[in-house]
Amino acid sequence: MEFNDEQLERYSRHILLKDIGIEGQEKILDGRVMIIGAGGLGAPIALYLAAAGVGHIGIADFDKVELSNLQRQVIHFTGDIGKRKVDSAAEKMKAINPGVDVAVYGDYLNSRNIRDVIRDYDFVIDGTDNFASKFLINDACVFEGKPFSHGGILRFDGQTMTVLPGATPCYRCIFNSPPPANSVPTCSQAGVLGPVAGMLGTIQATEALKFLTGAGELLAGRLLIFDAKTMRFRTAEVRKNPKCPVCGDHPTITELADGEQAICDLKH
Ligand code: ZN
Repeated sequence: MEFNDEQLERYSRHILLKDIGIEGQEKILDGRVMIIGAGGLGAPIALYLAAAGVGHIGIADFDKVELSNLQRQVIHFTGDIGKRKVDSAAEKMKAINPGVDVAVYGDYLNSRNIRDVIRDYDFVIDGTDNFASKFLINDACVFEGKPFSHGGILRFDGQTMTVLPGATPCYRCIFNSPPPANSVPTCSQAGVLGPVAGMLGTIQATEALKFLTGAGELLAGRLLIFDAKTMRFRTAEVRKNPKCPVCGDHPTITELADGEQAICDLKH
């Protein structure tokens, strides 16, 4: 494709990078990324991917903007309170970069529709904050063979890994099944330091751009964990688990559970 002058200038700092260049920027412009959750993680992810020029971005969240979101969900402004998060997010993304297409999914994403939704995308990003959603996204992506970024934050901590289904360990290879309900608090119960969401979300956005361009080495087969209190980062090498219930040698989960539990509650 031919870049026009506006694109050459807008993306000049990417084009200058040896690992991205014109060719990499073309791949970004052709890229399709689905962001699940327009909250603490989804906010920086959506801003950076729109700024980077990811050609088609999907964003899903059924929630409305609340005052308590604004401490960390930097894509939403005070004047957006009461608006659907997907609409508030799409507005900012288009304002940053009118060249990107944004598709909004403002209804519940659940076990019945998630596979159809993610099928249209090259890469999926989990920006949810509850285990039911994380396991649902993992399983749907494994079934669809869809690469994705897992991410989670709580208090001062962040955790992320990129999954290339079939090739690298999935979320269930490490965490077999969701912990009992209410045994692990969510951010709305235990709190989270605002910028921790930005730290983790920007890592996930970076992974998406690396995936689209082929630059660098993905965080696949490695679980990155950081503690912002001590600002220590570590990566743990993880292997595919032959006993994984979804991607192991003898999977026991072969379809998405169709029930109340699997409803993707994207509250953040
Ligand atoms: Zn697995």
